[in-house]
Amino acid sequence: PPDNAALGRSTWTFLHTTAAYYPLQANERQQTQMTNLLESLSIFYPCNWCATDFRRDIKKNPPISAVAGRESLMKWLCARHNEVNQKLGKEEFSCEVKNLDARWKDGPED
Ligand code: FAD
Repeated sequence: PPDNAALGRSTWTFLHTTAAYYPLQANERQQTQMTNLLESLSIFYPCNWCATDFRRDIKKNPPISAVAGRESLMKWLCARHNEVNQKLGKEEFSCEVKNLDARWKDGPED
């Protein structure tokens, strides 16, 4: 079976980094493509219970307005990650853009 912790870390790295470099203002096509990426991830993510909960979470909190641009996408993803953090008893991450940029755009950590 997959190593769910390694898979999770890599997937969050991919998602938060992609959000940090997403267009500041995405056009309609880019917004649709990002929505498709997130929905596809919630279907194909190879940890079944993770995928099920993620699907439920994004059904409750659809990315519809978040995909408009970089800052809203970064904050939305941070909130989704915090939902998982909370479920797993991990610390909540501060979702200010400054903090997200420091970790996922500017910072060389990891
Ligand atoms: P991770 O949670 O992987 O975080 C990596 C780094 O991201 C942290 O070190 C921190 O610097 C940064 N970070 C932390 N929180 C945030 C945030 N809110 N916003 C931005 N950056 C942040 N595991 C399960 O056991 N059960 C599940 O149901 C489950 N569902 C998941 C669903 C998805 C969509 C994904 C991608 C992963 C899921 N995981 C799940 C994996 C889990 O979230 C962790 O990746 C895994 O437990 C390893 O945790 P970690 O402590 O190494 O840090």
